[in-house]
This record gives sequence, structure tokens and C-alpha cells, in this order.
Amino acid sequence: MAKKIEDMAKFAKFCKDMGFIYQSSEIYGGINGFWDYGPLGVELKRNIKEAWWQDMVRNPPPGPDGQEIRMVGLDCAIIMNPKVWVASGHVGGFSDPMVDCLKCKRRFRADKVHFACATVDNVPHAVSVEADNATDAEPLLKDKIAKLDKKKHPAGRALKSAPQLEFHAATALPAPWPRPCPADDCDGTLTEPRSFNLMFESHAGPIASDENKVYLRPETAQGIFANYRNVLDSSRLKLPFGIAQVGKAFRNEINPRNFTFRSREFEQMEIEFFCHPAESRKWYEYWRELRKNWYSTLGIKSDNLVPREQGQEELAHYSVGTTDIEYMFPFSDEPQELEGVAHRGAFDLTAHAKHSGKDLSYFDEEGWNNLLQSRLTPFKDDKNRQPDEIKLREDEKKKLELEEKPKFQFVPHVIEPSAGADRFTLAVLCEAYTEEDVPDAKGKTEKRTVMKFHPRLAPVKAAIFPLVNRDGMDEAARALYRELKAHFNVVYDQSGAIGRRYRRQDEAGTPFCITIDGDTIKDGTVTIRDRDTLKQERIPKGEVRARIEALLRPEV
Ligand code: ATP
Repeated sequence: MAKKIEDMAKFAKFCKDMGFIYQSSEIYGGINGFWDYGPLGVELKRNIKEAWWQDMVRNPPPGPDGQEIRMVGLDCAIIMNPKVWVASGHVGGFSDPMVDCLKCKRRFRADKVHFACATVDNVPHAVSVEADNATDAEPLLKDKIAKLDKKKHPAGRALKSAPQLEFHAATALPAPWPRPCPADDCDGTLTEPRSFNLMFESHAGPIASDENKVYLRPETAQGIFANYRNVLDSSRLKLPFGIAQVGKAFRNEINPRNFTFRSREFEQMEIEFFCHPAESRKWYEYWRELRKNWYSTLGIKSDNLVPREQGQEELAHYSVGTTDIEYMFPFSDEPQELEGVAHRGAFDLTAHAKHSGKDLSYFDEEGWNNLLQSRLTPFKDDKNRQPDEIKLREDEKKKLELEEKPKFQFVPHVIEPSAGADRFTLAVLCEAYTEEDVPDAKGKTEKRTVMKFHPRLAPVKAAIFPLVNRDGMDEAARALYRELKAHFNVVYDQSGAIGRRYRRQDEAGTPFCITIDGDTIKDGTVTIRDRDTLKQERIPKGEVRARIEALLRPEV
């Protein structure tokens, strides 16, 4: 029976030992929330970003009515004019209310700290726990009260005897209640909730003044909105169309955790798809389906993927709908967000038009010309026309221009599929990791760790081994290696027993191992071993490249 990840610390160590992910600046003790990708990790993450670009930008599948989808890319600067972040709402609103413990100095998100309170003998008592929501908090609070009662803690005893408890989150705890710290090892008191801006600040220029203040972008999306007019004017695109960007984003997360899942520096893969407001629901549904299915085409099992439509109360005020595509990471009992697909209405372009003073509306020229043509058809339009006939046509045209033309000018609606490259890389690593029993060369059972990556994402596509380093085998192996490396990331490995070489490649997730032996020299065939089935086949050397290529073709 194959085993998946049970211990995240052990898994993180495996990722480090294999060269997938290292802690940033580890030799200096690391830095919380920052990660580096090693030789295998960088290939994996590049393959993920390239697969996304290929499948979403260069070759997206047909739209809901079978039409071609028009997509283009952008690569914007990380630092933008700070007015962008005022318009987007990040300067005013991109902050989580936080509470700090005055004693242990820990900092918590205010919406994740929950209190149980009651007044007993005229004394207000409270205890607190950390939990995602009120439902999860209640049993934890009751448990904590019982435990404190056993320790003869005044709050525990009082609250246990209270006829009724009140429950509040720290964001809305009324004044008379005390605010104990939720940490089990601390009896300190929390501050009132305070806003904490998640944007990293810097200064552009030699003087660190307020006028020079700039921000590291907390998302790539705003670069797309700020360039919407440029793209429209320079590319002659017509609605509907999408603009995509892959790039770094920075958030000063309060509590970076769960390996790379919540980092302070990460990469996003974002699309802003602009469409007519009347068609926006159709496009929202299209992107929701497409994005969820994309993960399955890259080997994520559908049981581990959960699309979750946000409830009305969670939706941003401008949004018609948002679906979070969530993945069952091994570090949590609840699925966690990989990507959000949001219907953002006209919110972003309207905000940027207002703040920049630029017209970001769209004129549907084709629609307007079609209407004009159809409505003017009944009116005579040839050179034998009488003056009254000319006037009739002109009057109708003026009327249409006055009454109908403005309807063709509008602010497009936007559908935003926003994915995290690092979160997906982590999901791919978790999904691929397998410990299993396999027969060795002598038929005895042995354990192996194998990364069952989808071939498109596998960091190394094939490993080439000479069986021994003589009798022409090493030269033949090198020649094949040289031929293949012009097309794929392949490695050459000549050291150690062949079984050991296989295991090394299994741990790296290499789909094929190709061995050059005595028969290769005689008849030009090689053995090709499949990582997952362990089957070995003899094929002509000349067919190896086509074999690998066939596996790398995107699913359609
Ligand atoms: P969360 O609720 O997990 O903080 P979010 O809803 O704030 O995420 P978005 O602003 O929608 O995230 O960003 C889009 C995507 O960017 C997320 O789905 C995720 O994949 C990625 N992302 C966001 N914050 C982080 C982070 N701190 N570390 C790694 N990836 C992130």
C-alpha cells in the first residue's frame, strides 16, 4: 500500500535533501516566510509556469460557444506608482486587524481569536483560543475551560459554573470583557485590534521620505489593469480578451506558515479576462470550469481538489461570484486555497479611471456598426435619392447616435483567475510524494520513495545510464545524452549499481531511465524503464526522443 505524507517536517527535509526547496539564507539562520528553489525545484516551478502560459495564454481551449479565446501576456514592474495602490484599495484597506499580546509579544489575526465570556459574581471572565471560525472555536473554548478548571484557574472555574456563555471574535469583543492571550503558555492580555498593512514599503530614490515611498506589489493584477488601455491601443484586441501575467508578489504576512503555503514572497499566475457585462456570468462559469480541470490534467487527483463557491457573506461588495479552488494539503484537515476565480464586475477599471482621470471604457465599434447598418437598411441610400429621402435617413442616423450609440460604450467586466505558482508547486510536490514497496532486481521487496510527477512537470524528463563505463557503452550513452539534452532536461549518470541509479531518479521523479548496454552496441536498441510501472522495454535508440515527446504533449 502506497503511503503519502504524514509528517510535514520530514517532507520539508526530503525537499531540502533532494534540492527542491531550501529555507532562504539558511546559513544565517533563515528568514521567516522566504524560500529558495534548488536545482530540481527550479525546474519543477518553471515547468508549472510554462504549462500555465502554454495552456492559458498561447493555446487556451475554445470558449463557451466554440470561439477562439484571445489572450496576450504582460510583464510589469514590481514597483509601480503608489497611486495604483490607492486606487486598488490596498493602501486604505489591505490590512488585517491584528491583536498583540502585551506579555509574550505574539501577534494574532483578530478574526482568528475567539473568546468565551461570562459574568460570575459580578466579575467578567473570559478565555480565548485561536480558531478559523466561531463554529470551530466553540468546542475548543469549552475544552480549554474544562482544562483550566482542573488547574483551579479562576476564569476556568467561574466560566464552568456560568449558566450561559457568550462567544465573540476579537474583532467584535465588547468593552467589559477581559482579553486574555490565547497561547496556552501565556497569561498576558491582548491589545485592541489594530490594522497592520500587508504591503512591504521601500523608497524610490536616495531620500527615505514620505514622497518617495513605494510599495512592493502585493499582487500582479494591478499591473494588468494599469496597462489595460495600452494593451487595447497597441494590439487591436476586441472584447472579449484576456491579459495574463506571471510574477513575484510580496505580502508581509503576519504568520507565514505551512512550509511555502503562506510565504512573504511568492509568485502569482494571474489572468484578467475582459468581457461585455451581459456575458460576464457565462465567462465566469467558463473560467471556473477551465481552471479547476487544468489541475487535473497535470496529475492532481480530483478527490484532492475542491472547488468552493464563496457564500454571499464572503463576497466582495462588487462581486457576483468567487470560487476558490482548494487542495487537500497534508498539513490541514480542511482544503486550502490554490486559486481564486473571481467575478470582479467593473470595479477595478472604474476605480482606476476615477483615480487616473483616464477613460478606461470600451466602445463596441462592431456592435454599433451592425446596429447602424440594420436600422438604416430600410432607408434609400443611392445616388438617385430625393432630398426628403436623404433627410429621412440622416434624421434616423442622428436619432440612433443620440439614443443608441451610448449603449455601446461601457466599462468591461472582469473575470480574474488568480493562482499561486508556489502553492501549486507545493501541491504538486505533496501529490507526487509516495513511499511504496517494490520488487528489486532479485524479486525481493524493497521500499522506495518516488515522486510521481506528471511528465510535463517532472524536473528531469529522462536519465541516461551506461550499464558499465567501457566497451563503447559510455560513448554511446554520452551521444544519446547529447542528442536528447538539446530538447529536454535530461541527466547522465554513470556511477553506482544500476538499481541505486534507478532509486535516485525515482526520488527526483524522472519518468524514464534509459540504459545503454552490450546489445545497444550490437543492434542499436536501449532499455527504457517506466518510473511508475517499473516496466522495462527494449526500443531502438532512435525512438527514444519520440517516446519522451509523446508524454509531454498537453492533454486536450
Ligand atoms: P489567502 O486567503 O490564502 O491569504 P488570498 O485569498 O489572500 O489567499 P489572493 O489575494 O486571491 O489570495 O491571491 C491569489 C493567489 O495567490 C492565492 O490563491 C494563492 O495561490 C496565492 N497567494 C496569496 N497569498 C499567498 C502567500 N502568502 N503565499 C503564497 N501564495 C499566496
